Amino acid sequence: MNHFDVIVIGAGVIGSSVAFHLARLGAGRVLVLDRTQVGAGTTSQSSGILRTHYSVIENVELALSSWQVFKHFAEYVGDPEASAGLVQCGYLIASPDGPKIDALRSALDGQRAMGITVQELDAAQATALLPIARFDDAALIGFEPEAGFADAYLTATGFARAARRLGVKIIEGVEVQQLLHEQGRVTGVDTSQGRFDSPVVVSTQNIWARDIERWTGIASPVNAERHTVLALQGPQPYTYRMPVYKDLGSPGMLYCRSYGGTQMLVSEGIAGHTLPAPDNEQGEISMDHVVDVGLQVADRFPSFDSAGLAASWTGVYDVTPDWNPVLGRLPDMQGLVVGYGFSGHGFKLSPGVGRVLAQEALGLPTDVPLAPYALERFRSGRLLTGRYGVGAVS
Ligand SMILES: Cc1cc2nc3c(=O)[nH]c(=O)nc-3n(C[C@H](O)[C@H](O)[C@H](O)COP(=O)(O)OP(=O)(O)OC[C@H]3O[C@@H](n4cnc5c(N)ncnc54)[C@H](O)[C@@H]3O)c2cc1C
Repeated sequence: MNHFDVIVIGAGVIGSSVAFHLARLGAGRVLVLDRTQVGAGTTSQSSGILRTHYSVIENVELALSSWQVFKHFAEYVGDPEASAGLVQCGYLIASPDGPKIDALRSALDGQRAMGITVQELDAAQATALLPIARFDDAALIGFEPEAGFADAYLTATGFARAARRLGVKIIEGVEVQQLLHEQGRVTGVDTSQGRFDSPVVVSTQNIWARDIERWTGIASPVNAERHTVLALQGPQPYTYRMPVYKDLGSPGMLYCRSYGGTQMLVSEGIAGHTLPAPDNEQGEISMDHVVDVGLQVADRFPSFDSAGLAASWTGVYDVTPDWNPVLGRLPDMQGLVVGYGFSGHGFKLSPGVGRVLAQEALGLPTDVPLAPYALERFRSGRLLTGRYGVGAVS
């Protein structure tokens, strides 16, 4: 009764996607365990931006396959009532002359080479799309018209509901306390509600992935890093028609998007505050930080000089040394598959990652090669470092 073909630890947007894809691929008896609730981890804190713009080409492929799912979410999960909350407003990214321009140019080339529609705009064209911003200093402006943002919590619950309809058992409020293994082979998990047996376990534990190190002795190079998100009410609305905007010229590499159809959601795209232990509770937001980000916003969006702070919250990234995830099987522990270290950009990859992790767990060929994402890269030095340097744009 407590025996399953696959157990998934974690029901964030990644674990829920894995569970759905396992069921779709005919995995048999699948169990998902989460210590809290579906989507209640860092997924609930996501800014939700979707783009295929990456300087790491492997990520472009995963983002592209994921984008097809976001566009047809209800149909894909087979549930007419499901929605990912997609707003297809486009993604604008601009750089002045300086250190980021080569990365931007090569990322746009990479996207084009993969058949993705991207345009290079002049300042007047960019202003027509985002009239509340100024582009007088931009030396290169890229625009991805298909991109936008969606709702990570809705997506997680949509995947979870579809998985349940396909027979997956999801139990909330259960903590996995130990991975059980014998002679280098997974046999199940021990939890706050007893033991569950399975020859295959998929860990999608995000900032809590250090558990794997404790349970197996295999290193999990991931840190919990807290970031702050602000919602600003400006004198002019940031509407749903206006594109997401990435400002490579700002000190904080800001990203902005519409929030609720009138406000601006804004956050810095650089390293955040490393926490001593994984914790996704709300953290302190200093007035100095609000002022610092507010000044950067006002520099780019002049009328936001008089904007008010409508809301603010913190969220935690699971950051690896190269700001890219670890995906796939772990050496020395047969039956264990992991997906962690999304470093602030995992939502846009979640459908594609869920599918490849499910394929890997079932011993099927994966849609994209997982070798570049292997844990081994931190030993061999073949890192997946993006050309933008530290930060979730990757
Ligand atoms: C502020 C912020 C902004 C972001 N913006 C974007 C964005 O614009 N675009 C984008 O693509 N990505 C973005 N991201 C990243 C994206 O949201 C995450 O990569 C993604 O949601 C992570 O999903 P997950 O399933 O890996 O993790 P989580 O949602 O954290 O799920 C992990 C789950 O595992 C469970 N768990 C862990 N350990 C155990 C255990 N021992 N037993 C039982 N359960 C356990 C937890 O309870 C949790 O529910 C952002 C993230 C943050 C924080």
